Amino acid sequence: MANRRKFLQSGVLGSVLLLLNKKAFSFNKRTATKPLVISTWDTGLIANKAAWTVLSKNGNALDAVEKGVMEIESSQNCCVGLGANPDRDGIVTLDASIMDHQYNCGSVAFLERIKHPISVARKVMEKTPHVMLVGEGAQKFAVAEGFPLEPQKLSDEAQKSYQDWLKRSNYHAPKINVENQNGHGSFAPHKLDNGEWNHDTIGMLAMDYHGNLSGSCTTSGAGFKMRGRVGDSPIIGAGLYVDNEVGACTATGQGEDVIRVAGSHSVVEMMRHGFSPSQACEKVIERIAKIKGEKAKDIQVAFIAIDKNGEVGSFALHPGFNYALRNSVEEELVKVNSYFA
Ligand code: ASP
Repeated sequence: MANRRKFLQSGVLGSVLLLLNKKAFSFNKRTATKPLVISTWDTGLIANKAAWTVLSKNGNALDAVEKGVMEIESSQNCCVGLGANPDRDGIVTLDASIMDHQYNCGSVAFLERIKHPISVARKVMEKTPHVMLVGEGAQKFAVAEGFPLEPQKLSDEAQKSYQDWLKRSNYHAPKINVENQNGHGSFAPHKLDNGEWNHDTIGMLAMDYHGNLSGSCTTSGAGFKMRGRVGDSPIIGAGLYVDNEVGACTATGQGEDVIRVAGSHSVVEMMRHGFSPSQACEKVIERIAKIKGEKAKDIQVAFIAIDKNGEVGSFALHPGFNYALRNSVEEELVKVNSYFA
């Protein structure tokens, strides 16, 4: 979280927020202007800025969603990419997925030492007969495609968090965060002492000038996860889904519970059956709340969605989630309604 706070205080976002002034923090606002881009959490403001350089020049949605999240993957100070918290063995492993307007999709999981997993996911989509590559195979493919192998080194912040976490021993997670039954780890995002949610993902959806949709999702997964753990973000239909005839959705939060309900695909199916993006997200969050029962109090899950008409919406399990929106007239951070008060 210290990483994230530092990142948010950094110049770029600071000036964006300043510029936005009163426009920042509207409540679940909808829009229907294309092109447009939305992305999860407040870091989405920075990602959207990068995506907008593509969309505003009539570039395509796929290029926009790749470029947008790359900006966050590059940051050594944030919660996504090689600067993020490692797994419980002290190694950062990355998951990412991308999907275009023609049901083409690609993803990578359990990938080490590659700065831009989203671009590797795109290469998987464009250059292989497969949808998903993992671990060593994904890294081999990335290197063969010309991606440099970065040093296996934690950022200073991540090193510090890891050392702190090791001291807690037995792999026990802090407070409200969910542990698995063996006490194996801390699954993101979890509630911090100051009431904010920590998180480790950026999901982005864009509609270009031609009305085509694409989406991307990239993450370091849950901090201090078990080695080999893969979350929802690289699973097409869970962390991300795009159906150009209907709409698109991406997820953030407790990946295991998003996978359980095929979250993003379920939201898109709800939109197919006539629900608005917000209603569709709400329905799937309700389903997760029902399945989890009492345990729903301990986890955060949120979806953002966009439909074929460019209407956007979102819903979260708990307060504290927001998403960033950018189109030709608005650039703002949107507060999201939640299941729990
Ligand atoms: N969904 C991610 C995962 O479970 C984590 C997050 O969004 O914070 O890997």
